[in-house]
Amino acid sequence: VGAEDAEYLVSLIRSIPGFPKEGIIFRDFMPVLADARGLDVLMRALEAALPVPADEFDSIAGLESRGFLFGPALAHHLGKGFIAIRKAGKLPPETIGESYELEYGTASVEIETMAVRPGERVLIVDDLIATGGTAKAGADLIEKAGGKVAGFSFVMGLDGLDGLAKLGDVPSSMLVSMP
Ligand code: AMP
Repeated sequence: VGAEDAEYLVSLIRSIPGFPKEGIIFRDFMPVLADARGLDVLMRALEAALPVPADEFDSIAGLESRGFLFGPALAHHLGKGFIAIRKAGKLPPETIGESYELEYGTASVEIETMAVRPGERVLIVDDLIATGGTAKAGADLIEKAGGKVAGFSFVMGLDGLDGLAKLGDVPSSMLVSMP
């Protein structure tokens, strides 16, 4: 995408200081989705920034909740299918789960046992990477289910948290880096 499109995309991201708690700047990409040109630019920008060529993965897995909002659109844009990595407790059995550390306590993600074919190559997507804990848990889950993580695509990344380092040497990309 050109500089003008990239600027337009960034201009649609809303920043809310102090949400959900003091000291956090909440980065809201919902206005990008709400805007026809914004959504089109988002798809083309994610495609242009793919961390691996599109023929090197079979499907896209989105992290709940905001990875669900653009993951299926990107999957369709690229001619792939979509896998939902859910928060724990939402799916009927059989599921496979993976727990990870939060600032306070732990959280878990789950998928259905049959959601991933043996050796399926998966691109994981989410709106934002902060510490990388959520994306890492999603990746561990895909591998546990018999798949192979081909890469990660994020719309936004937070500076200074070194989230990408947590993902090991799997290729990743982010469109916008912010404080
Ligand atoms: P982390 O596991 O620390 O990388 O956190 C990433 C997850 O938390 C993603 O699913 C994001 O949607 C959400 N998240 C973390 N920090 C923010 C933020 N400042 N603004 C919006 N979403 C955030």
